[in-house]
Amino acid sequence: MIDKDMDFNALEDSAFRKLLEDWLAANYPQEWRQDMRRPFRRLRGDDVVRWIGMQLDAGLRCPAWPKEYGGMGLDFLKQSVHQEVFETYGVARVVDLAEVQIGPTLMVHATAEQKARFIPPMLKGEHLWCQGYSEPGAGSDLASLKTAAIVDGDMLRVTGQKIWTSHAQEATHMFALVRTSKGERKQQGISFILLEMDAPGVTIRPIANLAGEEEFCEVFLDDVKVPLANVIGGLDNGWTVAKALLGHERVWIGSPGLATRALTLTRTLLAARPHDDVLFDAYAACAADLHDLRWLYRKTCSAIAGGTEPGVEVSMLKVIQSELLQRITELNVELGGDDALVDGDSPVGDTVTDYGWQYFMARPGTIFAGANEIQRNVLAKAVLGLGSK
Ligand SMILES: Cc1cc2nc3c(=O)[nH]c(=O)nc-3n(C[C@H](O)[C@H](O)[C@H](O)COP(=O)(O)OP(=O)(O)OC[C@H]3O[C@@H](n4cnc5c(N)ncnc54)[C@H](O)[C@@H]3O)c2cc1C
Repeated sequence: MIDKDMDFNALEDSAFRKLLEDWLAANYPQEWRQDMRRPFRRLRGDDVVRWIGMQLDAGLRCPAWPKEYGGMGLDFLKQSVHQEVFETYGVARVVDLAEVQIGPTLMVHATAEQKARFIPPMLKGEHLWCQGYSEPGAGSDLASLKTAAIVDGDMLRVTGQKIWTSHAQEATHMFALVRTSKGERKQQGISFILLEMDAPGVTIRPIANLAGEEEFCEVFLDDVKVPLANVIGGLDNGWTVAKALLGHERVWIGSPGLATRALTLTRTLLAARPHDDVLFDAYAACAADLHDLRWLYRKTCSAIAGGTEPGVEVSMLKVIQSELLQRITELNVELGGDDALVDGDSPVGDTVTDYGWQYFMARPGTIFAGANEIQRNVLAKAVLGLGSK
């Protein structure tokens, strides 16, 4: 049993690491672990709620949240230890965006009444959240969004369409950007709202990705009534809230965890299958680049732990991580040879893998959370000082 009142930050890193490892070994279901077959496994459906409940009961829910909101109150360095232990153990990821996105945003931008209404059910996993930003025609150019919300008494009436909304079919709530007026700049007149997915007028249509997973959805909003009390940060002021939401997630997304897992499969394949020197050299290059990514990631985490606010250069982590993961999964397919053409599981040594699944699941990483081309534009302008004056 973990003492829920414990000050985790006061522990030595090694003691904290052991506490988490022991707890995972005793409690985490084996069938949820990421493995050779599903190296980037995500939990779905009831398992998500069960997992949130397990962490809550153990005092291990929401590492970055302050204790006053029921979180673990970890400082940044301890958060990075927590993340590393969970990734190394193969804890499946969860797409509920309460913990990393909307919860921390509400803590800063919501009224006391909104915090009291929305944060406790997030913590307990009673509400699961998805992100309704992107629309057909408004992805990288998000401020072009067209979903319209008209004030009607104490309600907003919302009509439009969102797309690529991850796991919307399992969420109970969505935080969304809607247009409430037209300003001089397209970033003006946008509002940040919270809506219920079972409200009349909400239609959710899942989209299967190339790996066969129904990972994201189209969400149609047809005259959906949303209380004005669910607008965060004030009407027409949503752009500021939307930008603030990404916060430290920009760092975590650059974690070398997924690439490390994928390269473990590469090593297993190299040991189990015939291969030529070209493929071995490709492995060596990936291993060297992973080493560099780990170094950059640690350096970034240490700087933030030391009090440096993450700047735009953090975009480097996301670009390097997502492209390296794609290279490794491509190499795994090369190493798999004819087996990689099989749809579904193929044997590797004394285990199995699904080449297509891991290859296809790595593809979107260069698109979501700010497409890599956009990140490169940002780096070119803000870090290298290139581009228009
Ligand atoms: C797996 C996955 C999950 C997602 N989940 C969510 C979610 O939960 N909620 C949500 O709101 N959205 C989600 N998205 C959407 C994601 O945010 C968008 O796909 C992303 O912002 C890119 O927008 P787009 O798809 O409209 O492509 P576009 O913006 O149309 O871009 C198409 C291509 O053009 C390039 N491009 C565009 N503008 C420029 C430019 N100025 N300079 C150089 N190149 C440019 C892009 O980099 C890209 O390669 C998800 C996407 C994926 C793939």
